[in-house]
Amino acid sequence: MMRIVLLGAPGSGKGTQAQRLQAKFNVPQVSSGDLLRDAVARKTALGLKAKAAMEAGQLVSDDIVLGLIRERLSQPDAQQGFILDGFPRNSDQAATLSKLLVEIGQPLQTVLLMDVRTKTLIERLAGRRVCKHCGKVFSIATLPDDMTCAKNLGGHELFQRADDKEEVIAKRLDVYQSQTKPLIDHYTKLGLLKVIKGEGSLDAITTRMEIALALGKSSINVSKKTTKKKSKARTKSKNAGAKAAKKVAKKKSATKLKKAAVKKTSAQKKARAKPAVKSTKKQTKKVTKKSSKKLVKKSTRR
Ligand code: AMP
Repeated sequence: MMRIVLLGAPGSGKGTQAQRLQAKFNVPQVSSGDLLRDAVARKTALGLKAKAAMEAGQLVSDDIVLGLIRERLSQPDAQQGFILDGFPRNSDQAATLSKLLVEIGQPLQTVLLMDVRTKTLIERLAGRRVCKHCGKVFSIATLPDDMTCAKNLGGHELFQRADDKEEVIAKRLDVYQSQTKPLIDHYTKLGLLKVIKGEGSLDAITTRMEIALALGKSSINVSKKTTKKKSKARTKSKNAGAKAAKKVAKKKSATKLKKAAVKKTSAQKKARAKPAVKSTKKQTKKVTKKSSKKLVKKSTRR
C-alpha cells in the first residue's frame, strides 16, 4: 500500500513521476491540478470559479480544492492507497488533509520532496506541452517530430497550458515560495519528509523515488550490494589479520633464534676469555714477584 504526497515547485516533475508510479504500482495519482482542469473543461460551477485564479497562476480557494480532493479520495480505487500530486499547497490544506486521512483511516506514509533548481524549473515549464486527449506531458526538447502524441493510436494534438506562459510562470514560482515551501518544515517536523533530487533521466528519478519509498528491486539490490560489500570487507580484514598474526609469529621465532645465537656466541666468547683472565693473573703474579724480588734485593744492598 502506498499513501504519499509529492511535494515540489511547479515543473519539479511531480505529475510525470506520479504517472510512472501509478502505472508501476497500480496506485492512483490524485492531482489537484488535473481535477481542477477537468472541472474547468467541463464548465462545472466549481470549474468556473477556479478558472480565473488558475490562469493568473494563483492558488484556487481551499474550499474548492478540498471538496474535489475529498470526493476523489472516497472513490474505490483510492481505498488501497494514493499518490497526492499538487495537494496540499499551503498549511491550511495540510492541516485539513491530515484530519481527513485520520477520518478515513489512511494516514500518510511519506512526503517526497522533488528538489529541482529554479533555472531547470523555468526551462521545463516554458518547454512543456501536453496531449489534448490523454494529458501526457512532453518537453519541446524531446518532442515527437509531428508534434502529436502517439499514445492511444496517436495523432493527438499537443498544446501549451495557459499557466505555462512565461508571464504566469514567475507568479506560480512566487506562490510556491511563499505558500507551499513552508510545508517542507511542517512535514520534516512530523518525520515524514524525504528529499529526492528531481533532475537527471526520468528513470533515474523514478529509481530514487522507489529507493526512498523502499519499493521494488532497486532497494533490494542496494541492500544486497551493501551486504556483499560488508562481507567482502570482513573476509579481507580476516585475511589481513591472519597475515599479520603469521608475520608476528615469524618475527617472534626469528628473534628467539637470534637471541639463542647471541647467547651461544657470548658463551663461547666467555669460554675463550677465561684462560686469558687466568694468564693475566699469572702475569700480574709474575710482575709482583719480580718487583717484590727487586725490592728485596734493593733493601738487602742498603
Ligand atoms: P498544477 O497542475 O499542480 O501545477 O496546478 C495548476 C494550477 O491549479 C495551480 O497553479 C493552481 O492555480 C491550481 N491548483 C492546483 N492545485 C492546487 C491546490 N492544492 N490549491 C490551490 N490551487 C491549486
